[in-house]
Amino acid sequence: MPMSRDRQEEKRPRKRARVDSDDEDQQQQQRQKANGTPLRAGVNGSASNPNTPKKEPIRHWRVKAEYWDNTPTKEVADLDDVFYLSDPSATVYIRCKDTMFKIHERMFTCTEFFQECLDSHGPTSISNPHRMVAATVDELRAFFWALYATDSQLAEKITEFPHLQRVFRICSMTRKYPDLPRMIEWADAQVRSVAADNVFMDSCSSAALAEFTTFAILHEFPDELALIQKKWCERLQSKSAPSVPAIQVADEYPEDLKELRGIAYYLHIQDMMDRQTQFTESGATHLFADPKLNNGQVMRLLAGYWSLSALWERLRLKPAELPLGASCCDEAHAKCISIWERRWTSAAGWKRILGINTADALALLSCLQDQLSNDDDLKVINPDCRRAGLEEIRKLREKTKDGLGDHFAGVV
Ligand SMILES: [Zn+2]
Repeated sequence: MPMSRDRQEEKRPRKRARVDSDDEDQQQQQRQKANGTPLRAGVNGSASNPNTPKKEPIRHWRVKAEYWDNTPTKEVADLDDVFYLSDPSATVYIRCKDTMFKIHERMFTCTEFFQECLDSHGPTSISNPHRMVAATVDELRAFFWALYATDSQLAEKITEFPHLQRVFRICSMTRKYPDLPRMIEWADAQVRSVAADNVFMDSCSSAALAEFTTFAILHEFPDELALIQKKWCERLQSKSAPSVPAIQVADEYPEDLKELRGIAYYLHIQDMMDRQTQFTESGATHLFADPKLNNGQVMRLLAGYWSLSALWERLRLKPAELPLGASCCDEAHAKCISIWERRWTSAAGWKRILGINTADALALLSCLQDQLSNDDDLKVINPDCRRAGLEEIRKLREKTKDGLGDHFAGVV
């Protein structure tokens, strides 16, 4: 839905030109004096502190196409519960969609851009508010919270997801109106610390993990994205999170979430198999069907099932190559190889392995490695070769794990 910009007065934020004049310095200092909260002006933070590094060029963010429509649907806006301040010295009326805010001018004019908006608008009133269109109502509310927040509020550790959502919105505001370096720094630091907080991450629902993941992708937090993905994969493996929500978000961003995507599809198959003792081709589609999955996803699960089963079939019949150990020699090694292959084939047919479903390549390889490392008949070969062979299985398992997503690539 297009935003009806023609009816709006707000200009798109633009990059502020560098100003180093004395006038600017004075204005800056006066603005800082005029307010006491930490993330507001002075926020601009260049002129007054000679130690403040020069501003970095504004980064170009990968922004998701924004489809919200900020056209008001009501004649009379609702007064915001929190940031329509009754204080008579709060004189700036701001309308965003159907919500009216009223805040202090010294707060709103924290960037030159907002100052210019206000200057060109002239005095605001409830019937003639400044209209904001580039931000959503939730973003504005979060932004005002940040402007008015005290040091102790800002220092509070995030323990609940709604507080993190507020940080997401503040981040989003700072990307839209970039002239807020201190706010950017604060919000980015919050995101970084939460992503590394295991207790918080363990408390997140799948929906929260999905929102955090999407945020980290769109706002370019690659290190945090890696942490969230790792945590989510662990949660899936320990069965403390269901696979379907992970499949949904991973299919939306398959390039960014390769690991999560592979693990989530893989574990979904194992869950389905666990629930069904007998598996037949005709029952397969029905087995993987889930009201929350679309047809493409069900087909990918099915294709992945067959692909993983075929992988094990190949491995079962064709043992991994046994590397030549440091203390072995070519002539003796022929014997090592022959015993290795015999024991491999034998272990692959043992009851314990046969009890694992054929699509569970990771469990099968773990089991095989375990069987062979305890296999007395294999202990007669050169110990270096034996060790190297077991290491090959471990590497094969790692490689299989890293490539899980490839089994679910078809039928898009
Ligand atoms: Zn050997």
